[in-house]
Amino acid sequence: MQIHNTLTRRVEAFAPADPDRVTLYVCGPTVYNYIHIGNARTFTVFDLLARTLKRRFPKVVYVRNVTDIDDKINAAARESGVPIGAVTARFDAAFAQDMDALGLLAPDVVPYATAHIAQIIAMCEQLIASGHAYAAQGHVLFSVASFPAYGQLSRRDPDEMLAGARIEVAPYKRDAGDFVLWKPSDDSLPGWDSPWGRGRPGWHIECSAMAATHLGESIDIHGGGMDLQFPHHENEIAQSTCAHGGKVFARHWMHSGMLNLDGAKMSKSLGNTFRVHDLLQHYPSEALRYALLSGHYRQPLDWSENLIEQSIRTLDRLYATVRDLGDVAVDPATAPIPQAIEDALDDDLDTPRVLALIAGFAAAARKAVDPTERAASKAALLGAGRALNILQGDPVAWFARGNDDSDDAWIQAQIDERAAAKKNRDFARADAIRAQLANEGVVLEDTAQGVRWVRKRV
Ligand code: AMP
Ligand code: ZN
Repeated sequence: MQIHNTLTRRVEAFAPADPDRVTLYVCGPTVYNYIHIGNARTFTVFDLLARTLKRRFPKVVYVRNVTDIDDKINAAARESGVPIGAVTARFDAAFAQDMDALGLLAPDVVPYATAHIAQIIAMCEQLIASGHAYAAQGHVLFSVASFPAYGQLSRRDPDEMLAGARIEVAPYKRDAGDFVLWKPSDDSLPGWDSPWGRGRPGWHIECSAMAATHLGESIDIHGGGMDLQFPHHENEIAQSTCAHGGKVFARHWMHSGMLNLDGAKMSKSLGNTFRVHDLLQHYPSEALRYALLSGHYRQPLDWSENLIEQSIRTLDRLYATVRDLGDVAVDPATAPIPQAIEDALDDDLDTPRVLALIAGFAAAARKAVDPTERAASKAALLGAGRALNILQGDPVAWFARGNDDSDDAWIQAQIDERAAAKKNRDFARADAIRAQLANEGVVLEDTAQGVRWVRKRV
């Protein structure tokens, strides 16, 4: 299998250190809100990678963590007046539901940061003992100057990185670029006893500790979105390499491209997000999955209503083909995956080529008259779909969807949510909901009696 390695900026043959135990670590969500479709893109790409690797190697250990201690979680809990544990439990469960609905496999291990505090503290102690970190005013900081390779993944010049950090340098830092491994917690914040007083871990060290705990000191592939290259992954490399006596942390780095909305990265901080939770109430999950895989994973992907509609129409055509071959018995769960599909996946997960091949199989199936040919083309189509986990359902169920009033319920749910957002003075979110509804042809009117909506046909 050939995959692009961010470390070398080249597509390389993937050769695991131990082909009998391939190790994959992917940075998971911080659970303080519903995930958006941009997050889902990254998780869908790595789900496809894990599925593909599992066909190539006898054992693949796929770890995707959950960050359940973070200042953003603390802030969300404070704002909503709900205990921190209730926030993380709620959104962790929502995340698992979203992943399941999108047809993603559960990873082999889902570690939680809060269950690895002892390992995090031990790693901090090791880094201090080896001169790569220092304690100051209840903090533990990584000394960037102690790791000359810092910046190699994102190819940043250390001086350039420092220029950005110099604006407001915390007094406990020796160097502006030094980053936090551990920080003190006051009584209002979650904390654990440590050699440096009661405190909590920084984000970066969580992943280093969880990867080492579940996969060992060197791993085969580390993945995440492109936006995590710096500083998160750069810091993970520095921590893990220095804590493990210079051993290579991850031999292969894979980064998925950003999902954009109107040319801007979809992100919670910009407020331009579509939540998976909401989209799932409105569109078939398989169409979302198809849309997410329609572009090559390293390219940016523009999210739009049009992309979803096109994905639905394509799936309509494909399911109609499967339906028309209803007299041919093929079990999608066991139909072999055609070699051409495996070849496309081996070529740095070339999903646009996979989808083009699928369209070709469907065209051939529609033309086939001979019974053997019909059986073979249906098997090829369903086997190909299995590689991406699409086309595995019953065509009758696909075409029967949406024959209810769920649209009205969805619109009302959006209006209620917008009202709640306005109450919380989250005007960006309120505007985003209004814009999304407008996109769907639903226009809102704020009246004295409350919000009324009308459907505008265009
Ligand atoms: P976060 O919760 O922000 O740490 O993000 C969780 C995962 O989603 C990370 O792997 C991010 O790189 C990824 N991610 C965040 N925003 C986007 C986006 N707009 N497109 C693709 N992936 C994203
Ligand atoms: Zn991480």
